[in-house]
Amino acid sequence: MPKSRRLDIDLEDIICPYCGKVAVMMSGRELYGDSSSYTTKNYWVCRDCDAHVGCHLRNDEYGLEGNEPLGKMANRRLRMARIKVHIMFDPLWKVAGWNRTDSYMWLAKRLGIPGDECHIGNFNLKTCAKAIKALDGLRKLLNLKGDDLREWDGYKTP
Ligand SMILES: [Zn+2]
Repeated sequence: MPKSRRLDIDLEDIICPYCGKVAVMMSGRELYGDSSSYTTKNYWVCRDCDAHVGCHLRNDEYGLEGNEPLGKMANRRLRMARIKVHIMFDPLWKVAGWNRTDSYMWLAKRLGIPGDECHIGNFNLKTCAKAIKALDGLRKLLNLKGDDLREWDGYKTP
């Protein structure tokens, strides 16, 4: 049975946090060009601030229209900070042998936030900085060597 379709978007998620204007929806093709690998994805965008947030991919099974934002809008500086957190964090559960849930719980604890609020896509600059510091400390603590360390450093977020 198909799920009901409705516009299930919080207005506050599509108001630019930098200038207060309502964002416009654009396709990945419009935002990044034809050669991008994100052409099928939609984005809420504030052109003035170079701020945007990606949307869930359209998914009929889950009743997703493809216009539901994945988190809060971010400008370039914040997007770069979140990417850095991902680069340091993702190998934890892919390379260092931790499971995904434990990794997120560990990070949440270090940041002093509940586990279910630990979404890197929602981190602000301050949270990113805290996460990077914690991950840097953990990396030293784990004392990875040889192949493990090379694997971590070479790991690319998909
Ligand atoms: Zn703006």
